[in-house]
Amino acid sequence: MEKKIVLLPGDGIGKEIMESAKKVLAAIESEYHHRFILQECAIGGDALDRYGVPLPDDTLHACNEADAVLLGSVGGPKWDNQPPKFRPEKGLLGIRKGLGLFANLRPVKTFPPLLHASPLKEEIVKDSDMMIVRELTGGLYFGEPSERRNNGEDVVDTLAYSRHEIERIVEKGFESAQIRNKHLTSVDKANVLESSRVWREIVNEKAVDYPDVEVEHLLVDAAAMKLITNPSGFDVVVTENLFGDILSDEASVLTGSLGMLPSASVRTDGLGMYEPVHGSAPDIAGKGIANPIGMILSTALMLEYSLGMQEEAKAIESAVMDCLEQGYHTADLKIKDGKQMSTDEITEAIIENLTTKCISDSICSS
Ligand code: ATP
Ligand code: MG
Repeated sequence: MEKKIVLLPGDGIGKEIMESAKKVLAAIESEYHHRFILQECAIGGDALDRYGVPLPDDTLHACNEADAVLLGSVGGPKWDNQPPKFRPEKGLLGIRKGLGLFANLRPVKTFPPLLHASPLKEEIVKDSDMMIVRELTGGLYFGEPSERRNNGEDVVDTLAYSRHEIERIVEKGFESAQIRNKHLTSVDKANVLESSRVWREIVNEKAVDYPDVEVEHLLVDAAAMKLITNPSGFDVVVTENLFGDILSDEASVLTGSLGMLPSASVRTDGLGMYEPVHGSAPDIAGKGIANPIGMILSTALMLEYSLGMQEEAKAIESAVMDCLEQGYHTADLKIKDGKQMSTDEITEAIIENLTTKCISDSICSS
C-alpha cells in the first residue's frame, strides 16, 4: 500500500521521538512492502520561529491532503511570554479544529512488566484496560470570548456545546464500547453545569440505539477518585474536553509514566492525527533520554485506525511489549532492575523485536 503521512515534530522532545517513529515506519515499510510518503511540516514554537505563526496555512493544507498525521509535541518555556494568539499551543488547538478532529481516543492499558513502576499498588492497577473518549473541539478551550475585563480584575471563559457536538462524541463513545467490553461510563458534572445536564440527556437518548451497551453516569469528581482506586471498573469513558484532558493525564499514572501513552484524534471520514499524550517535556529535551513508546504506540494506532494496517499495528505493539519484558526501559520508568536505555537505544531494541518477529512468523512479507 502507498500512504501519505504528514509529520509534525513540533518542539522539545517532539523532535527526538519523531525520529523514533520514522525508524519504526521505515521498518514497517521494508517488512510489509508498503510505501509511506512522508512530508515534514512546522507547528507550534518551531513554526513561530520559522514563519511567525503557530499554525502555517501550508501545514494545515498538507494535513488535509494526507491519509494521516503524526504529531510530536508543542510548546516550551521559550514561548511563554508570547501574546495568547501566538502561543505554540494555539497551533495544536488550531489544527484539531481546522481538521475537524472532534474525538480524542486514549487507550490506557497497564503493561504487565511495568506494574511495579506505577506509584499505585499492583493489585489496583493490574487489570486496567480502558479507552478514554474525550471531546476535542468544543467546551471551555474554545469558548468565545476568553478575556480579561475591568483591568484584569474579572476574567471570562465560556463553556459552550451544541447538541450536534455532544451527539457525535457520545456516538463515538458508544461505538467504542460496542467493539470493546460493552460498558460506557459517561462523565459529567450534571449536579452543577447546565451543559452537563444536556450531555446526560443526550447520552440517555443515544443509549436506546445501543441496547447491548451498559451505561453508567458518573460525576467527574467521583470519576477522578475511581480512576485510581478501582481503575479496572472502567471500559470506555466518554467525556467533554476539559474533564477528558484532566482524567486522561491522571490515568497515565496507572502505566508508570506519561511517556507510555498514545492517542488518536479522529473525525468520521478516517483522517486522524496521532500523538503521544505527554507534552514537550522541556526539562529533558535535547538529552536523548525521552521515552519514545507513547509516540511509537501512536504510530501503531495510526496504522490501525487511519491506514487499515491492523496486522502491522499489532506487530508494533507486541514488539514494544517484548522490549519491556526483556527489561529495557527509559529513565522515566522507575524500575529497579532491567536495563536503562536512551531514546535511540530503546527504539532500536523495539525495531529488533519487530523485525525478528516478522522473520520468525514469516507473515510480514506475504
Ligand atoms: P503539556 O502542557 O504540553 O501537556 P505538561 O506540562 O503536562 O505538558 P509534559 O511535557 O507532558 O508536561 O511533561 C510532564 C513531565 O513528564 C516532565 O517532567 C517530563 O519530563 C515528563 N515526561 C513527559 N513525557 C515524557 C517522555 N516521553 N519521556 C520521559 N519523560 C517524559
Ligand atoms: Mg499536560
